[in-house]
Amino acid sequence: MFKKVLIANRGEIALRIQRACRELGIKSVVVYSEADRDAKYVRLADEAVCIGPAPSAQSYLSMPAIIATAEVTDAEAIHPGYGFLSENADFAERVERSGFTFIGPTPESIRMMGDKVSAKQAMIRAGVPCVPGSEGALPEDPKEIIRIARTVGYPVIIKAAGGGGGRGMRVVHTEAALVHAVQTTRAEAGAAFGNPEVYMEKFLENPRHVEIQILADTFKNAVWLGERDCSMQRRHQKIIEEAPAPGIPRRTIEKVGERCAAACKKMGYRGAGTFEFLYENGEFYFIEMNTRVQVEHPVTELVTGIDIVQQQIKIAAGEKLPFTQRQIELKGHAIECRINAEDPVKFTPSPGRITMWHAPGGPGVRVDSHAYTNYFVPPNYDSMIGKIIVHGDTREQALARMRIALSETVVEGIQTNIPLHRELMADAKFIEGGTSIHYLEGWMAAHKR
Ligand code: ADP
Repeated sequence: MFKKVLIANRGEIALRIQRACRELGIKSVVVYSEADRDAKYVRLADEAVCIGPAPSAQSYLSMPAIIATAEVTDAEAIHPGYGFLSENADFAERVERSGFTFIGPTPESIRMMGDKVSAKQAMIRAGVPCVPGSEGALPEDPKEIIRIARTVGYPVIIKAAGGGGGRGMRVVHTEAALVHAVQTTRAEAGAAFGNPEVYMEKFLENPRHVEIQILADTFKNAVWLGERDCSMQRRHQKIIEEAPAPGIPRRTIEKVGERCAAACKKMGYRGAGTFEFLYENGEFYFIEMNTRVQVEHPVTELVTGIDIVQQQIKIAAGEKLPFTQRQIELKGHAIECRINAEDPVKFTPSPGRITMWHAPGGPGVRVDSHAYTNYFVPPNYDSMIGKIIVHGDTREQALARMRIALSETVVEGIQTNIPLHRELMADAKFIEGGTSIHYLEGWMAAHKR
């Protein structure tokens, strides 16, 4: 096992990884920007190194600064968390070439999955069901594009091969709008992701977002750890996640879970990963794979009892998975609410000083957050300041526990989306379970938001 791990991230996930290291008896080094000087994980760190000013490009995205820090602190491995450099194949490659272990998949796997066109082709080869669409990237010829759309059937969605974070997508309802939409998406994708390639999918009108968590070691063992329903989204950003997905027959999920684990074996995938699907009319359709730990990993941890971050570290250290698929049991129900520093109505960021922070507690309640009273939320990064995660024997109990937890939470000085979460936990449709990815936006329009 490693003696020292460098954490190349910030916020709640930096703290989460630090805790995992501590439990495994590993020393950790955190890197931080000038804006995160007073962060909790910096204060709690075994070692902390300031690597640059607030802008991510000069700190959390600076490969030379991170690798140099690993060198001077004698770290053996680098955990990239999520976001930032976590899905950057060049970074993984540079980490390994500099003699450190990258806690994640191989650069080849990251590269293949980072290009959504090649990811989809790999899934088709591995027998994972995909959204019907163009076979690969769209050709230049407008006539050809029109022909493909006719076979797929309108509405279609044009997506950037290099897209991510809900950006680089355009829905097209009519043939008249098609060619222009393809050209615009291409231009935007070229500017935003450095890759103008786009592809086409059938636009599913009312799907749910259901994803499968997998873990694979370097001995060709791969397991799936159940699913998460992340349909509560706003502008393609998840805000509530739960496990298991309400109302989907277990056999249907098992079939797709088994396919995902088999695909990992076939691809020689290692580490943690998530297969994201849209689920509509009883069918699963693959949309993308994330080759890192997800924000919502705790709901899976609570229903399986498996520590995903510790497993990532153990796999990277060359250990075998300590369980087989048969030994994985899903118990009860878990729900996560992402707490964002933002205006609950307009959703504009609300950085600033937290004058009062009180986190909830009690049976089945877990809070992953780096916030505290007097913490200053910097304006430079993602607005998420923590996650409240609850576990109960049933979904009903989990919902009740989330309502209590939200009612106990106090955040003053900045605005948060807690009022929105409180309303959603009392919403009849959400309580019923199984709402689609469009539900929240419809709900907000109906509530005049
Ligand atoms: P990103 O990498 O940007 O997150 P995804 O491919 O995962 O992109 O898609 C993000 C979201 O966009 C999905 O959760 C879903 O809400 C919507 N979406 C993507 N593809 C489709 C599709 N074919 N039909 C309907 N909605 C889609």
